[in-house]
Amino acid sequence: MGWSFTIGRVGETVVRVHATLLLLLGWYAWGGWRVDGASGAVGEFVFIALIFVSILLHEFGHIAAARHYGIGTPDVLLTPIGGLARIARMPEEPRQELVIALAGPLVTLVLGGLLAGGVILLAGSDALFPSSASQLGLWSGLAWTNALLLGFNLIPAFPMDGGRVLRALLASRFGMVRGTLIAVRTGQVLAVAFAFVGFQWSIMLVLIAAFVFLGAQAELDAVQTKHLAGSMTAERLTVTDVRVLPPEMPLSAAIAILTRSDQRAFPVLDASGHLMGTLTRDDMLRGVADAGLAAPVTAAMALPAVSGVVPVASSFEEAVGRLHESRRDALPVVDAEGHFIGLITRDNVTDVLLVERLRQGATAR
Ligand SMILES: [Zn+2]
Repeated sequence: MGWSFTIGRVGETVVRVHATLLLLLGWYAWGGWRVDGASGAVGEFVFIALIFVSILLHEFGHIAAARHYGIGTPDVLLTPIGGLARIARMPEEPRQELVIALAGPLVTLVLGGLLAGGVILLAGSDALFPSSASQLGLWSGLAWTNALLLGFNLIPAFPMDGGRVLRALLASRFGMVRGTLIAVRTGQVLAVAFAFVGFQWSIMLVLIAAFVFLGAQAELDAVQTKHLAGSMTAERLTVTDVRVLPPEMPLSAAIAILTRSDQRAFPVLDASGHLMGTLTRDDMLRGVADAGLAAPVTAAMALPAVSGVVPVASSFEEAVGRLHESRRDALPVVDAEGHFIGLITRDNVTDVLLVERLRQGATAR
């Protein structure tokens, strides 16, 4: 992710901070300075920093649980709107997801409890429950912040932890896809209710509601696609009926073919059917600008080593992942010997999934 930098590493997990978080810290320190001078600035800075330490500990709850199941946890990112622990894959087993989702809130619960207990022991219960919120001290304020974080995280809607808990519970009963669908719709109903309340109270609530609504939908799309793709390989996604260009063809002829067909990417093959490169519409236009209409297609094509190729036996996830990473309209699919088999295009991936949805819908009926 851009605008973020590494501040440390715990075990195999890299801890990163988004630059806007530093802006937020600076903003609060400035606010403290205007009220109380240097001591106010330090006080505000320390308070906000400790909140983010709390959030980091929460994320490490998730990370520790994922590691317990042997799932990789490459990094955790702190942003002004919270923490994001990346885990290498979602567990298939609902019970594992339940434990991973609950581990973060559990850390927050213990932390908030320890802070509240410490404040009561050292300063009495009035320090934890003052007559007005402005009288809260550093540690009592932190205890209440952790209580708020706990409540927010347990809202049963994606992408909050509560949504994952709900999905895990539903999935163990109704299966992954149906469980996710019910959890996502529940979260979206909550988000709409939130937005209505937000319009009367605070525009911030409306923004959070929109974030929750879209986050929930993204989770549903991901799970449905994964289910539809099933054990599909790249072969199923490959368009084999494609127009092929010989290496000696001039760009002028390639452009003539482009303008008379729907195809937007063309493989260039040698006489033995070996893939030499691919030529997209953009490659052609750039090639004409750089080398002229008479130059051969080989002057403008992207070499397989540059564009990337998809081995025909790759999984759906790998094939689509490579296509997205390449930022190209199409990638060539090759067999183990490097012979050209066909193209994977974005349009075709969409079509295959659409057909699969209809097919599965038909057999379910
Ligand atoms: Zn969490």
